[in-house]
Parts: sequence; structure tokens; C-alpha cells
Amino acid sequence: MLSKNNLMNKEQKFNGIPSSPGIAIGRAVILKPETVVFPVEDVPAERIPDELSRFDKAVEDLVNEFTELVDKVKEEAGAVVSIIETNTLIISDKMLHAAVTDRINNGESAESAVVSEFDRQKQFFKHSNDVILRERAVDLDQIKQKLLSVLRRRSDMIDFPNNSIVVAQSLSPSDIIKFREAGVLAFITEIGGIASHASILARTFEIPAVIGVHNAVSMIINGDNLIVDGFSGLIFNHAEKKTLHDLVSRQSDYKKNQKALGKLAKLSSETKDGRRIKLQSNIDYLDDANSAAMVGAEGFGLVRTENLIISLQHFPSEEEQYNWYKQIADRAFPAIATFRVFDIGSDKHAEGMPRHEENPALGFRGIRFLLKRRDIFKSQIRAILRVSDHKNIRLMLPMISNIDEVLNSIKLIEQCKSELHQQKESFDAYIPVGVMIETPAAVMVADKLAELTQFFSIGTNDLTQYSLAADRSNELVADVYDAFHPSIIRMIKMTVDVAHKHKIPVGICGELAGHSASTSLLVGLGVDEFSVAPSALLETKKRIRETDCKIAIELAEKALNSSSHDEIKELLDMD
Ligand code: PEP
Ligand code: MG
Repeated sequence: MLSKNNLMNKEQKFNGIPSSPGIAIGRAVILKPETVVFPVEDVPAERIPDELSRFDKAVEDLVNEFTELVDKVKEEAGAVVSIIETNTLIISDKMLHAAVTDRINNGESAESAVVSEFDRQKQFFKHSNDVILRERAVDLDQIKQKLLSVLRRRSDMIDFPNNSIVVAQSLSPSDIIKFREAGVLAFITEIGGIASHASILARTFEIPAVIGVHNAVSMIINGDNLIVDGFSGLIFNHAEKKTLHDLVSRQSDYKKNQKALGKLAKLSSETKDGRRIKLQSNIDYLDDANSAAMVGAEGFGLVRTENLIISLQHFPSEEEQYNWYKQIADRAFPAIATFRVFDIGSDKHAEGMPRHEENPALGFRGIRFLLKRRDIFKSQIRAILRVSDHKNIRLMLPMISNIDEVLNSIKLIEQCKSELHQQKESFDAYIPVGVMIETPAAVMVADKLAELTQFFSIGTNDLTQYSLAADRSNELVADVYDAFHPSIIRMIKMTVDVAHKHKIPVGICGELAGHSASTSLLVGLGVDEFSVAPSALLETKKRIRETDCKIAIELAEKALNSSSHDEIKELLDMD
């Protein structure tokens, strides 16, 4: 890699992993972790009282938030209550409050004072011999993050100039949503994975992105003239005319190709020899419902409802959910909209989630969280049931790893139905309930799951992560994380066979469904439904229409007999 000092105005090239296609030309905005969080400049004396009251208000808001949370969960989750109460005690601690206040009086911003003081105390607890005190360090860190996010809610964090290209160490799904609203043109990150939720959102929003660019934050300078090539994963700084010309023409070819695909929107999704494949869309954001309808999606195979939490920055009320779901359900009608209940946790964090976790992807996520927070789960089930009266709604459970999770969810759904019935609300009494097959455990007990449910949807993003023990958000294991691994292909086949034996439909809603090399293979494995991002739908339809089932089945058989992903890739002509 080139050094930034010796080649200031010469073309520099950085290599990364392409994670969202497209070309963007703009100016770098560097987000060092601390600049995302708080302004570093000294606060002038006249602003000190404002900073003090911002801090006091943030503490007050957080204490109220914790109190409300305790009220909601006290009957059902005693362990969670004691964690929240400990957090309330910490945040109300007079000494801690005085120490932060002192720092603000000495000219630090509220955010800076919180970070400095909490980190100082954390260091002290972290090195204690006492296990309980060491836990305190974790609590302090968690509360610090909460306070910062309350403070951030109250301040206009960053004013992005036009043509901004964000360069950061890593970005969360909520950053992507926020930065998209601010008009950011492209993203460059040092860490991340192509199947992370942040990458999925960038692709959904059609914002070019490149991940895994080593030292991007230190090598690129604020204001640098960048070109991001989301096709190849290259970043150019101070590009030469020829590079610029080549990339601009590549972008225009891409756009022409996308436009040409438009004519496929009205054509049916079927193979050359007439097998119908239901081609649906994944919905991450309300706007996607319109984009999906425009490209002719046959309904929505996965609505990631937890994105509503992330964009609102709180758990939505039943009414807020009802309004959001209703718009999506109406947009899909008469086709189906599949609402996956909140798959919060892992790389999608939300306020009110109680604990810091060492391995969040293996932790308190999806159905595990919902079954502990029945108040939240019930409000969501009720909202989904209330939009189901036109009978075009399915309800899907994420992160299932055992039968009890399904049984308990169904019990709660039935309870919600009888409450709604008593309240004379109309709903679909036979709403199909399905599960995501995204853990190896779910694959192995698929026959039992099929007895309880009406459809399967294979989540290959997580199935790959959990089967290959490779974090989907970690570029260091990007070469291990591979949905074309023979184990994944075999698990898809096992799931399809079980579903068909039980006469229930099976779809794929992971990124593999929209991959340019997978279509024929998945058709050959017998998948009934594909659900892909709206931006990938027409390309996928084109490939489905080019597929010959007989050849696809032969291809699938060969893939099932392959011993390595390299063999499978050769079979599929991938480079
Ligand atoms: C998956 O895991 O494949 C999936 C579709 O769900 P998500 O990407 O939201 O985890
Ligand atoms: Mg998943």
C-alpha cells in the first residue's frame, strides 16, 4: 500500500472486498471511532452550562428508560430486572456524577466527559481480582454506550457535505440507515463482512461499498478525492483521467444493463421448461416495498422488522408497528408479505437490550430475546395479526434452534389471537407460521419443525456463519465464510427434502438466493421460493428464465457429491 506522505497528488489505489456494487465519486469524510461519538474540541466557557444540562438530562432520560423497562419486564424476567436495577444504581451514583460534572466544568463536552470518566473507572474495575467488580467494568461500558446514544439522539451529530464518502473502521446497520438519510454516496470500512447486515443494507439502498480496506482511516485524509469501485473493491485517491474515464463508463454500462432488465418486470418467473419459481423480495426498509413492487416481486419473502427498531432507536409500540406493517402488507396485496419477528441482537443492537455479550452472534438474539421479552413479542404478534385480515400475511420465527422455541411462540400467537378475538379485532385465524432454517440444529430437526409449521425459509447468511463457525461480519474469515461450501449445499437439500415430504413450501432468503452463480443450483436442489433484495430481483429472474431444470438437477447432484467449495465453484464456472 502507498504511503500518504510521498504521493499526495498521485493516484493511489487501495484494495478491499466489494460489498455493494456501483461507482461513487466524492470527498472522503473520515469517521474515527471517537469522532463518530463526540466532538473533541474544547467547549467555550459560555457553553458549559448547556453541556451540564445535556448530561443531566441524558442521565434523567436513561433512568426513566430503565424504570419503564423494569415495569414492563418485572413479571416475566426477574433476572433481567436485577441487571437493569444495577444499571440504574450505577448511573445514579453521586461520585460518578460529580466526576463527570467536574470534567465538563473543566471544558470537556458532555460526551467527552462521559467517555473519559467511564473509561477511567472501567480500567480500575477491569483489573480487580473480584469477579463481581470485573463485571462492573462491563456494566460501565454498556451504560457509557447508552448515555452516548441518548446524548447523540439529542445532538445533530455530523453535517455531511455534498458528495461525502464515509471512511470508517466499521459501520453498524443503524449508521448505514442514518448516513443514507444524510445523502452519503459510498462507504469504505476497514472491517466487516459481505453478509453482515450493514453490507446487506448498503446493497439494498444501492449505495456502493467496499469493506476490508486495511488502515483506510489512517491512509485516507478528510477531503481526499476518492472513487469507490463497488464492483471490484478498489478505491482510488486522486485518480488519473484514464481511471476516471474507465470507471465512469463502467458505471454507465451497469446502469444501461439495469435499465434493460426493466422489461423483465412483467414477465413470469419460470424456468425455460416451465417450472414456476416464486420470486419474492426482501424488505429492509419501507421504501423497499415500492421498489420491490416496481420490479415485479411476487410478494415479500422476508420483511426484516427489526430495522424499524433500528431506525426509530426504540422498541416501537403496537400502533407504530401496525402502521408500518399495514403499509407493507397493502403494498404486497394480493401477494404475500412475510413478517419475520424482530431478529434483534448480534450485529443489530437496540436500546433496552440488557447485556454486553462476548459473542453476540451466539447470544441473546432473535427468538431467544423475544421469548424472554414477551411484552415486546406480544405487541409485535398483535400488530402482525391485525394486518393479516386480508389473508396475505405470513409470520416467521428467526434463530430457531429447538422445538420448544416454536411451541412457545405458537402458544403466544394463539393467546394473542384469543385476546384480539375478544376485542373484536379482525385477523387471519389461520395465519401461516414458518421458521427460518438458519442454524445447523434447525436443519437436523427440520422434520419436527415441519410438523408444527406451514413453511420454511432458509437463511443462508446465518446458516453459513453457524455451520462453518465463521463470523459473517469479519473480513478476516471472509475466505472461510462461504455459502458454496458443500455442507451448506447438502443442508439446503436436506431441508428441501423434509419440507417437500411434509408438503410445505421452502424458500431461500439469504444472500445466496441472489448470487449470480447460484440460481441454477438452487433450482436443481428443489427450492420453491427465492427472496432477494429488490435490486437483485430482475437479474435473478433473468437467470431463472435461462435455467433448464434437467441440467439444473444434474448440476445439483454433482454439487452434492463434491468434496470442496473449490470443486463446486469450478462446477458453477465461478472465478
Ligand atoms: C439469513 O440469515 O440468511 C437471513 C436472511 O437473515 P439475516 O440476514 O437478517 O440474518
Ligand atoms: Mg439470519
